[in-house]
Amino acid sequence: MTNLDRRTLLSGLAAACLGGAALSGTVSSAGAQTVPAVPNPPVPRLARGHDLVSLTHVQTNAPRVALTFDDGPHPTLTPMLLDILAHYRAKATFYVIGQNARRYPEILHRIVAEGHEIGNHSWSHPVLSRLGNASVLREIDRTQEIVWNTVGALPVTMRPPYGAFSHRQMQMLHDERALTTVVWSVDPEDWRRPGVNVVAQRMVRGARPGAVILAHDIHSPTIRAVPAALEGIQARGLSTVTMSDLLGWGRWGPRGLRYVRAPGADYQG
Ligand SMILES: [Zn+2]
Repeated sequence: MTNLDRRTLLSGLAAACLGGAALSGTVSSAGAQTVPAVPNPPVPRLARGHDLVSLTHVQTNAPRVALTFDDGPHPTLTPMLLDILAHYRAKATFYVIGQNARRYPEILHRIVAEGHEIGNHSWSHPVLSRLGNASVLREIDRTQEIVWNTVGALPVTMRPPYGAFSHRQMQMLHDERALTTVVWSVDPEDWRRPGVNVVAQRMVRGARPGAVILAHDIHSPTIRAVPAALEGIQARGLSTVTMSDLLGWGRWGPRGLRYVRAPGADYQG
């Protein structure tokens, strides 16, 4: 084996190990023709611009509420929910767990394609308030990365698992990552499984302009409660929108977000 052969082999192994990420320059094709490598673009950071550190609801008279679903995506329930939302022309925000997002990339694509928003619900759903800053940021960054690499957009808000996140941590997350922490103003406690009708009633009763309604798209009774909840919310003259819409930040998605380039990054933002 010549030195050149060995070098080519080693660079090929490195590319295989890294999935091509972070390798710039060239790789050799079988025909000895040199073609440019196509690395994954480095994950950008959100540009600063929103002063909001955290919120439980939005101060507004506009007849709109944000419907938010945590803990997914779920392989069957999230697609069912998307069908229901489409039927009622309702938009929602999905606070995904990074580990689940990695397993079901096609559902992430569908969420974005149908005009909904993706938020960050940590990588592994720990009690963040027990973690130090570095561990918190690792949980957040891994989920930002999987969402970015899957759909080409970054979450702009974070929902802490169990709502367990101190004000100091919220400020830290905002300072370090320009992410706004979104808690909630309406909690139907659907995870306790109080029954389909009770979940729907609680969601409707709490709905008022600017409300942030919490639910979980990993419980079947919750999904079955959504049609009645949406009918009740719409009967009160309220429409359901994404978090970014409720906040007046414009449409969330691969276009229109303000990013800053990661150091050394070269991508079209
Ligand atoms: Zn959760």
